[in-house]
Amino acid sequence: MIDQSTFLLDFTLFSRTKIKLLTQLAKQLQTGTRPLVVCTPNPEQIVQSISNKGFGHNLRTADVLVPDGVGLVWASRLLSRRTQQLPLTERIAGSDLVSEILTSTVFSGTALVVGGREYAGRTLQTAARKFVVGDAPLFWTAGYDDIEKQSPAEEQELVELLKRLRPSIVFVAFGAPQQEEWIFKHKQLLDSVGVRLVMSVGGAFDMLLGLVPRAPIWMQNFGLEWLFRLVQQPWRWRRQLRLLQFIAVVTKEFIRPRSRRPSQA
Ligand code: UDP
Repeated sequence: MIDQSTFLLDFTLFSRTKIKLLTQLAKQLQTGTRPLVVCTPNPEQIVQSISNKGFGHNLRTADVLVPDGVGLVWASRLLSRRTQQLPLTERIAGSDLVSEILTSTVFSGTALVVGGREYAGRTLQTAARKFVVGDAPLFWTAGYDDIEKQSPAEEQELVELLKRLRPSIVFVAFGAPQQEEWIFKHKQLLDSVGVRLVMSVGGAFDMLLGLVPRAPIWMQNFGLEWLFRLVQQPWRWRRQLRLLQFIAVVTKEFIRPRSRRPSQA
């Protein structure tokens, strides 16, 4: 049901505007019959997927890949010269998408955030009062103390919460690639409790709740949000080296000799 896409480095990305995406997601919530999986890859994650095949598979299995990184838009513009396909229209930041889903009146039903273990002291109730999905509040559970060490008791509690709440929307905030893995592992359960939209959101709520400041608009417009995050969270430097790898991957793809059609003769 989600149409319009651009094929980039083996991934099919949503290529239209954020407004068009929101319209399609709202329709999905009203008429969808199964959970629509929305993932929000950025250039770092595209590089990560080269060495982590399982992660790459999960991304490719998602129903919608939202380009959450200006590097993807730039790469699509460059590579479109080779492929003749339309480049991505715009970067769609996961945190903008979440915030608009939560504040728009066209979205109805209960929403649950799974993950974001630092949200405890922040009382998500504050956010729940601010962000209301239709008439229903936004619920939150950290899910696990450590996503790498999930205990059966935590899993059981989470399953019971999902069965009790029966949310329409689930935002998964464990960071990549764990959040995508969690989504596919729980897809059947999500379907059985009536979830219609499940989205990987990384640290989007860290920003929405004010735990991490968001880059000023001018930096976002210049495509420098990654630099702002690096200054705020210097421990990201190792992850952000992947941006250099991304440039190398795109360049290699751009200069790669075109494959010739086999001779007709
Ligand atoms: N997180 C979590 N449990 C864990 C590890 C991480 O809930 O065991 C949360 C963490 O609190 C943060 C989110 O996962 O809110 C990951 O955000 P990150 O900034 O790494 O994601 P990005 O936006 O870079 O994809």
